[in-house]
This record gives sequence, structure tokens and C-alpha cells, in this order.
Amino acid sequence: MRTHSDLVSKRALGVDASGIRKVFDLAAKMKDPINLSIGLPDFDVPDVAKAAAIEAIKAGNNRYTQTQGIAPLRERLRADLTKEIGRDVGDVLVTSGVSGGLLLAILAVIDPGDEAVFLDPYFVMYKHLLTMAGGKSVVVDSYPDFRLHADRVEAAITPRTKMLILNSPSNPTGVVMSESEVRDAAEIARKHGLLILSDEIYEPFLYDTADYKSQDADSSAPDPQSKIHNPQSRLPSPAKLYDNTLILRGFSKSHAMTGWRLGYAAGPEWVVSQMTKLQQYTFVCAPTPLQVAATVALDVSMKQYVDAYRIKRDLAYSILTKKFEVEKPGGAFYMFPKAPNGQTASDFVARAIENNVLIIPGNVFSDRDTHFRISYATTDEKLSAGCNILCSLA
Ligand code: PMP
Repeated sequence: MRTHSDLVSKRALGVDASGIRKVFDLAAKMKDPINLSIGLPDFDVPDVAKAAAIEAIKAGNNRYTQTQGIAPLRERLRADLTKEIGRDVGDVLVTSGVSGGLLLAILAVIDPGDEAVFLDPYFVMYKHLLTMAGGKSVVVDSYPDFRLHADRVEAAITPRTKMLILNSPSNPTGVVMSESEVRDAAEIARKHGLLILSDEIYEPFLYDTADYKSQDADSSAPDPQSKIHNPQSRLPSPAKLYDNTLILRGFSKSHAMTGWRLGYAAGPEWVVSQMTKLQQYTFVCAPTPLQVAATVALDVSMKQYVDAYRIKRDLAYSILTKKFEVEKPGGAFYMFPKAPNGQTASDFVARAIENNVLIIPGNVFSDRDTHFRISYATTDEKLSAGCNILCSLA
């Protein structure tokens, strides 16, 4: 007789979710914590997008769409990206979140034993999706500056490497890759014939490289399409330099729609067509009424939120630097300071939680247990109170 545990696949057993679960278990015991652990914006979906979603449902947009997504949304995204990147970005597939895009891209490219290279610290999902696909994660240490060091990446490439995953702005460090790091990455990918998977989900949250303010002030004839989905974004994207780049972006963070499950993939036909085929037999399509509403959301300016988050970044940075070693992040809404006095991050996080501040230990995102992630997507009051408590513990 088979037991239940005999029935569970090695694939499922290979995915270890214990790190983040420990944090959630601890958090469940906290009463009204100062929560600096949240990976989503603290504002809500714009009202016009909510209204458009309700309207879309009432108007009968409730059936499957084409697997690749509705034409108005895809065409708009392709036009915007083409303008931003400076060449036709290729096919666009609307996905069920960037998570959906990541899964499909990995399934489309990675055979058992194939390798994907990415920096440590990393967004946790990369590792687990590669495990599910039977692939191998090859992590490249990026401490202490969390930058792409070309020599370290080059040393990680083997004949089995197929994919270089980049994430800028980064979760968990908030670091934005510089032009020269992107150039190095593109050169390595070209030399070894790799696909670059560029996870740009935090693209709108750029505080130093893309100056939305001056862009608005400068443009004599404001482009109505440039409001959030910023065709003049100055995110150094590898797609600008290297054709074999698959861009993954989404609405979860840009429009606070994490529950809407909407993302998109743009890139060369050879990979997007395979992803589309796989989507047909997995997700089928992204949620129909929400695709309609997201098309409307593209015309809503989110600049005020980006400006507010820049201020939060500066606030958290100015407090934390009093006691912590921390890289100043250029984007997203995370910081990744070093635990003080040689403590492990797990120990420091346990003490922070005892003092009612919820943060995440770096070992959830890393082979090391030396740093912790804070999210500053919260009110200024909670943010400064939380950062001050962390300083008092250091
Ligand atoms: N990539 C990164 C770097 C993320 O932080 C997240 C969400 N936390 C995702 C992808 C997935 O986002 P979603 O599936 O909601 O689009």
C-alpha cells in the first residue's frame, strides 16, 4: 500500500517553503505589529480601474480571451515597450501575474539538468520554479554591494547554462542595475548564447534613474500614453542591448493589483510562442474583465505614489544608516540592511519580532543569513517608528 507521503512527488518535496513560513508563524502571534514585511504597495487600485473592471463584467467580458490576451492591451503594451526600448520588442503575451510569466518562461526553456544563473540575494520564486522544472539554480554571490560582478557571473556559466535571470529594481535589495552592469550582462549572454529573463516588475518604482517629475516638466507636448507605463523610462533594460531578452512586467506592484493576477511577457517569437502554447494548457488566459480594466489603468498617472515612495525610501534610509550598514536602493520598495554586531539575521529578526516589528530574514532570499529585508510600503508613521525600534535594538 502506498502511503500519502509515497504519493507526493519528488518535485513537490523538493520545494522548501519553511523559511518564509517560520516568519508567518511568528507574525501570526503578534498583536497589531509594525509590519515592514509586506511585498505590495500600501495604496489601492485606482478608482477608474475599479470602475472599469465592474463595467467590463457588466458588459459581458466574462468568457475566455484568446490565450495571448486581448488585442487592445497587447497592442498598447507592445507599442509602449517598443517606444521605450527603441526597437520592436517582439510578441506580447498577457500572463497570470509575473509569476505566471516566470513559470511559463522556465518551462519553455529549461529541461531537467539545465542551469539558470541569477544573483544572490534573489526573488525566492526563481529557485522554486527551477526546482519544479527539474532545472538547477546557480546563484552568484553579489554581496556586499548587490551589484552584478561580471567576473563572478562569467565564472558561473557552464555548458548547461541556458538562462540568465536579472531582476532590476531588485527584490529584496531595491538595487537598480547600472548601464554598465546591464552592458556586461548582455555581453555575457551574447557570448554564451543565453536567454536573458529580465524581471522588471518594479520598473515604475525608480527614484534616481527615471525622474518622472522632470520628465513631466520637460515635455512640451505631453504624451498621454506616458503617464505610468512610461515609454521614456530610464530603466537600463537589457532588452535595449540584447534581442534575446524576455521582459516580464506586470500590474501587481505598479497599480496595487496583486490580487488581479495580471502580468505580461514581451520578447522574441521563439520563446513567447512556446510560452503561449504552454499557457493554453495551464492558465488558459489571464482574467478577462481585468484585462479590459488594466487597459484603462494604463492611462492613470501613478506618479504621486512613486514620489511618495521616494520620500519613504529617504526616510527609512536616513534612520537606518545611523545604526546599520545598508546600500541605498534606487527602486522597488525594499531595503536590505546588514544585521548588527555579527548577529545572524534570523536572531536579529526574532528580536525585532519580540519588539513588535515584522521584518524578513535574508536567508529567505539568500544562501547567507546576514541581512534582513524591510519593506517601506507603509505609512510614514509606522515606517519611522519601526526603523527607530530596529535602531534601538542594534
Ligand atoms: N518578481 C518579483 C521580483 C516579485 O517581487 C514578485 C512579487 N512579489 C513577482 C515577480 C510576482 O508578482 P506577480 O505574480 O504578482 O505579478
